[in-house]
Amino acid sequence: MEDVTVIGAGASGLTAAINSARHGAKVLLIEKMDRVGKKLLATGNGRCNISNVKVSLSRYHGTCTHLLKSVMADYGGDATRRFFAEIGIEYRREEDRLYPYSLQASSVLDVLRYEVARQGVQCVTGCMVKDIIPGDSFSIQTSEGLFQSHRVILAAGGKASSKLGSAGEGYEIARKLGIRVSRLFPALVKLRCESPYLKRLAGVKVEQGVASVWVGQKMLRQEEGEILFTPDGLSGPPILQLSRCAAQGLAEKKEVLIILDLFPAMEEEQLFQMLKGRTQRLSYKTVEESFNGLLHKKLTPVLLAYTGLDGTRESGTLSNRELWILVKQMKGMKFPVTATGPWQEAQVTAGGIVAGEVTGTLEAKRYPGLFFSGEVLDIDGDCGGFNLQWAWSSGLLAGRNAAISIAK
Ligand SMILES: Cc1cc2nc3c(=O)[nH]c(=O)nc-3n(C[C@H](O)[C@H](O)[C@H](O)COP(=O)(O)OP(=O)(O)OC[C@H]3O[C@@H](n4cnc5c(N)ncnc54)[C@H](O)[C@@H]3O)c2cc1C
Repeated sequence: MEDVTVIGAGASGLTAAINSARHGAKVLLIEKMDRVGKKLLATGNGRCNISNVKVSLSRYHGTCTHLLKSVMADYGGDATRRFFAEIGIEYRREEDRLYPYSLQASSVLDVLRYEVARQGVQCVTGCMVKDIIPGDSFSIQTSEGLFQSHRVILAAGGKASSKLGSAGEGYEIARKLGIRVSRLFPALVKLRCESPYLKRLAGVKVEQGVASVWVGQKMLRQEEGEILFTPDGLSGPPILQLSRCAAQGLAEKKEVLIILDLFPAMEEEQLFQMLKGRTQRLSYKTVEESFNGLLHKKLTPVLLAYTGLDGTRESGTLSNRELWILVKQMKGMKFPVTATGPWQEAQVTAGGIVAGEVTGTLEAKRYPGLFFSGEVLDIDGDCGGFNLQWAWSSGLLAGRNAAISIAK
């Protein structure tokens, strides 16, 4: 009989197992993949954006955000950084994002694996948990047989990027126990858009653009950064950041638009004056040629197509009204969103086990002794280290609480 069994050896399961063992529990860690922490290796493009110096409630979404307060009170950013510093991680800061100094995700996984072993956690890989059966203790049915445990921590992750681990099995396990799971949709994912011009624009990058997401005529969020055109839509950090709002809007069958400002550094009037000056100076060039040196070559014909202006005209013939049409388009190019990218390309799952099922100690309300941590809960963060921070913090808290609840 185990004291604590942790299901899933990802970011939250590894920290949960370590902290349970540190609080005196005999711990079993079960992982369905052939090795632990596979997804961690892919985080931050292999560099692992481990945390963020500005962790705040506003960066998280979902019904479980209220849990942040109690979780972060005990295992917030400082405590997590101390945890990692103690096991060997030095930090490197890029703006507000934190990375291991080595800039290698593998070093984060290595220190966790080492600590799991040092704490005497027994680790079983290639073992898929199918069911948790509550009783005097918990019976855990797996592909490799039955395990008994006083406490269980479900740290089985979400549905995003299933080739790296979880494919949503944790939600199924919870549902079979009658635990409510909210609607799931992919987040931090590129968006598919409708536009006849996307194929032409594929590969174009707007280094410093502003994207805003409009759902049902209402602007919900705006983000700045590098925007990338793909053959069927839009990508890049600002788009990933907006994808949750877009996905939710689509799920609610609302009209969703991404509007791009290609010249955020200029007010409309400034851009108008600039265009006017250029067209006068370059009046001998065609309208299309006059954009050379200002706009990515592939963007000019698309801009003209959107505005309906003839690119072969002499640029000096453009009227003020026509220049304003160009300005409005350059600062407000509209892309109707038809879908999010697939689950396989998403970084995180929006939705999960709902707030009403969980106490502030991350214990299941219906089943004392069963705990949850990480992405399996209905909470997801923005891009920038917020999701791993939640995974570490909730894992540490659930691990400690599961262990100390046995001692009581
Ligand atoms: C490509 C990519 C890059 C990312 N980069 C960042 C980043 O830089 N910073 C950041 O903050 N976030 C990042 N994220 C998000 C972050 O990785 C996740 O939010 C975090 O890993 C969630 O931790 P978790 O422990 O809850 O789930 P996971 O890390 O998914 O771990 C769950 C584990 O449970 C196992 N499992 C599932 N079901 C079972 C079962 N039935 N039986 C046994 N084992 C099971 C899975 O195989 C998996 O190993 C990224 C995500 C992706 C996909």
